[in-house]
This record gives sequence, structure tokens and C-alpha cells, in this order.
Amino acid sequence: MEIVPLPLLADNYGYLLIDPATRRAAVVDCSEAGPVLAEVERRGLRLEAILSTHHHYDHVGGNEDVARAIPGIRILGSRADAARIPAITELLDDDAEFEVIGSRGRAILIPAHTSGHLAYFFPDDGPSVFSGDTLFAAGCGRLFEGSPAQMMQSLGKLAVLPEATQVWCGHEYTEQNLRFAHDLEPTNPDIIAKRTRVEMLRQNGRPTVPSTIGEEKRTNPFLRCESAELRRTLLSRFPDLSTDSTAIFAKIRELKDNFRG
Ligand SMILES: [Zn+2]
Repeated sequence: MEIVPLPLLADNYGYLLIDPATRRAAVVDCSEAGPVLAEVERRGLRLEAILSTHHHYDHVGGNEDVARAIPGIRILGSRADAARIPAITELLDDDAEFEVIGSRGRAILIPAHTSGHLAYFFPDDGPSVFSGDTLFAAGCGRLFEGSPAQMMQSLGKLAVLPEATQVWCGHEYTEQNLRFAHDLEPTNPDIIAKRTRVEMLRQNGRPTVPSTIGEEKRTNPFLRCESAELRRTLLSRFPDLSTDSTAIFAKIRELKDNFRG
């Protein structure tokens, strides 16, 4: 399938999934109906499904309008969040397998940003994962409904996917995330190289997605709690900080919440 990022609202991404042979399409995270339906029309597609990663308004705000415009459209989401995902028709548990536009997908429950957050993994297409507001390029989501330990566990479920898996996340936060990553690991060559690449893309108004799982392991501080340089930076600033991985992770999250780099 073909994957097309759709910039929505201020800095959200929805993603059109297209089967080029049949012109069938699905959309991951329909923040708003207008631009999604316009793109579907412009490309001559038949929109068959919405996949919602989590219940926040900037990810499901268009569900009701699309359901009204296309009666019978499938709307997939987390069973744990069923009451909070508008117009949901298919309730998915952790590890649930499903099929959209002829592609095989698997839901992965990754709570912490919200308690029912799902990622959607497509093993035969890329492979690709849609990580919503849990794993961002060089960052992770805020902990609105979970603990640092829970977020670590959720990110761990994505980190074990094949290294080449393309990561399509919910927001364009990459440039600022990398400034933060660079502050913690000033000599990490992968972070330095990616910063240059990402700044160039943004200057040209281009999306920085997709990343890959391998790239995230090399550049994302939230997957790098064991990095010696990152630990040195933190312990030089906070000498009393515990060296336990969860404590390191919690500190990184707290610093990121307040980072104005
Ligand atoms: Zn969110």
C-alpha cells in the first residue's frame, strides 16, 4: 500500500493508506474531515476505514463528520477507549489482527499517553507502524494517563519491531525533539546528522516522517536510557539522581516537559 502523510490542524499528521490497484483507501487519525475528504476526492479514492490511535480530539475530531458523509464506513479503535472514540465500529484488543484495503494489520496496545492508546503495525507494507502520540521521531508523548514505567513498557513493545519498520507518528515535533536529544547527547553522531537533515526538510516545508525503528533506537532519548553519554549528562546536572532505568526515563520526561531549546 501507498502511505501519504496529511498535515492536519496545527502540527498533526493523518495518514492516507491507499491500495493503488483498487483505489481503496483508509485513514489513520482523522483529525478533521474536510481536508481528508477533499484529498480522497482529489485522488479518486474510495475511503473504507478510519483507524484511530487514541481518543484525543486532534486525532478523532473528524470521525463523526466522515461517518455522516460515508455511511457504513468502518472505524477501528481500542476496546479500552471505545467510549471515547466517536463513531467507533470495530473494537480492538492488544494484538488483534485486522484487515483494511487488502492489507494485514495488527493492533498493539501501548498505554501511557492515554490508557487505551493503540499502534497499528503493517508487517507486509514497509513494514510500517503508526505510533500516534506514543512514539514520536526523537521523542515520546506526554504521560496524561500513565506512569513512566508504563510508557517505557509501551515504547519497548515498538522497539522490538524490525529495525527497518517505518515509523509514522502523530505530530511534526521532530526538530524540537532533536534539539532536546542533542542537549542530552552532544556528541552522538546519529543525532547530529539527523538534526541537519531534519532542519533542511523543515526549511523546505517538508514532513520529517517516516523515521524507522532503527533510527529511533540511535537518536531517541526515550529509547536510550542506557546511553553512557546521556547518563553522564543527567548525573552531572542531578548528582542525586538514581541510576535505575525507570528513574532515568522519568527524569528525561520531566526535563522534556519543561524544555525550551
Ligand atoms: Zn494525544
